Amino acid sequence: MTNAAKSKETVLVWFREDFRTADNAALTEAAGHDAVVPLYIREMHPRTRKRGAARNWWLHQSLEDLAASLKRLGAPLILATGDPYVVLGDIARQSGATVIVWNDRPAGPDSETDRDLAERLLQDGLEVRTFPGALLHDPDKLQTGSGNFYKVFTPFWRALESSLQERDPLPAPGKLSPANTDLESESLSDWKLLPSGPDWAGGLRHTWTPGESGARERLDAFLSEGISGYAHKRDRPDGDHTSCLSPHLAAGEITPAQIFRAMRDNTGTGSNEDRAVFRKEIGWREFCWHLLAHRPKLDSENFDGRFDDFPWIADSGDLSAWKTGMTGYPIVDAGMRQLWQTGWMHNRVRMIVASFLTKHLLIHWSEGERWFWDTLVDADPANNPANWQWVAGCGADAAPYFRIFNPIIQGEKFDPEGAYVRTYVPEIADLPDKYIHHPWDAPEETLDEAGIELGRTYPKPIVDHKDARERALSAFSTIKEDA
Ligand SMILES: Cc1cc2nc3c(=O)[nH]c(=O)nc-3n(C[C@H](O)[C@H](O)[C@H](O)COP(=O)(O)OP(=O)(O)OC[C@H]3O[C@@H](n4cnc5c(N)ncnc54)[C@H](O)[C@@H]3O)c2cc1C
Repeated sequence: MTNAAKSKETVLVWFREDFRTADNAALTEAAGHDAVVPLYIREMHPRTRKRGAARNWWLHQSLEDLAASLKRLGAPLILATGDPYVVLGDIARQSGATVIVWNDRPAGPDSETDRDLAERLLQDGLEVRTFPGALLHDPDKLQTGSGNFYKVFTPFWRALESSLQERDPLPAPGKLSPANTDLESESLSDWKLLPSGPDWAGGLRHTWTPGESGARERLDAFLSEGISGYAHKRDRPDGDHTSCLSPHLAAGEITPAQIFRAMRDNTGTGSNEDRAVFRKEIGWREFCWHLLAHRPKLDSENFDGRFDDFPWIADSGDLSAWKTGMTGYPIVDAGMRQLWQTGWMHNRVRMIVASFLTKHLLIHWSEGERWFWDTLVDADPANNPANWQWVAGCGADAAPYFRIFNPIIQGEKFDPEGAYVRTYVPEIADLPDKYIHHPWDAPEETLDEAGIELGRTYPKPIVDHKDARERALSAFSTIKEDA
C-alpha cells in the first residue's frame, strides 16, 4: 500500500498491555494515517485472566497517563467495555475506520484470542495490521537444535543473546490527527479500578508513579546510580539495589529494547558485569514468556507432571498467617508486608516466602501464585507462575526439591543488620541485630527490653524450621524416587 492511499484511511489503534507512545509500532503505523482513533477495551472475554486488585490500581493510573499523552498528541483515547470483536466492529463503523492496528500479545490465551479475532475482523472486511510485541525474541522462532522449545535458562539466554539484533526503539509520534467523529468514551472512574472500600492503596501511591514518564524516570535513575554494584547487591533487600522496573514492564510502559538502548547510551555507571547481569535478568523475563508460549496453562498445570500427585496440605490457617505476614519468621513476614504495603517485593524475598509456603508449609504453589497475582503491581501472566513453579520445584529449570531455604540464614545473609525486617516488622525493631531474624532465641530480658511478648505482640514461629524441613524432604522424596 502506498503512503498516498494510506493517508485517506481512518485507523483504529487498539492498546492492550502497551501503555506507551514511544517504541509502539502500532501507534507509529497509525500516526501515518489521516485520522486516528486510539482505543482501550475493558475486555469481557472468558479466556482472559482477570487482573488482580493491585494491577487494576496500576491500570487506572496508566490509562490516565496514556490518555493525557494521546490528548497532547491530538487524538483522545476512547474507553469501551465488552467483547473486543463487538467493540472493534462498532467503533470501526461509528468512526469510519477501515484499518485496525495492534501490537501482538506474545503468548498465553490472549494471543490465541487475538489470532481468532483478526480472522473474524478480516472476514468482516476490515484490514488488520499487527506488529510484534515488545519481547526481544519471538517464542515461536527461537528453538533448540532439535526443534524444541527451551526448558533450561542458560542455553536459552546464550541462544537469544547471540542472535539478538539490537534495534533502535521507535520515537513517539510528534502528532496524531483525530478522527472527525462524536465517539463517546466511557468514564475511567466508572470502571471502579481503584479501591472502593478501605483505601489500601496509600503505600502504592507513595511508592510508584505509573505511566510512561514514570517508567523513564525509574530507568534513568537506575542507570545513573542504582546499577552500580547491581551484580553483587541485587540480592540485598535492605537497600535500593534493583531497578523496580517490573510493574512498568508488565504494563508495557517501557520496552526491553528501550532499556537496552538506554544502557548503550549511558555508559557512566555500572561495571560491565553489572550491565551483563542486569541484561540477563531481563533475559529471565524473556524465558518465562517463552515457557508460557509453549505451556499456555502455566498458572494452573505443573510444568513437571510428576508433581500432579504431590501431597500438598490444605491449611487455611497457615495460608492466612503467610498472607498477612504473621508466620513468626521475620524475613518472611517482612516480605509479605512489603507486598501488602507497596504492591512489590524484592526478588530474593519472593524466593524466600515462596519456598516457605511450598516447603515449610507444604501449601500448593498455586495458592501463593494467586495471592501474588492479586497483590503485586507487577503481576505478570508469565513471570508469576513460572517463578512460583521454579521455586516449588515443579517448574522449568527448577530449583532442586531439596533446596529448602532456611529463613533464618537467608535473613542473616541478605539483611545482615536487619534493616529490611525493621522497616516492615516494626514491632520487633528494637531487638539487637543478633536476634532480629530469630526472636524466639532471645533471652526473656532482651525481649522485655525490646517491648516484645512472643505470641502476643509478635507471633511465635508457626512451624519449627527443622521439623518442617524433614516433613518437606519426606514429601518431596516421592518425586525423587520417580525421577
Ligand atoms: C515467586 C516469584 C514470583 C514472581 N512474580 C513476578 C511477577 O508476577 N512479575 C514479575 O515481573 N516478576 C516476578 N518475579 C520475578 C522478580 O522477582 C521480579 O521481576 C523482580 O523482583 C522485579 O524487581 P526489579 O524490577 O527491581 O528487578 P531487577 O532486578 O531490576 O530486574 C530487571 C527486570 O528483569 C526481570 N526479572 C528479574 N528477575 C526475574 C525473574 N526471576 N523472572 C522473570 N523476570 C525477571 C523483571 O522484568 C525485572 O523488572 C517473581 C519471582 C518470584 C520468586
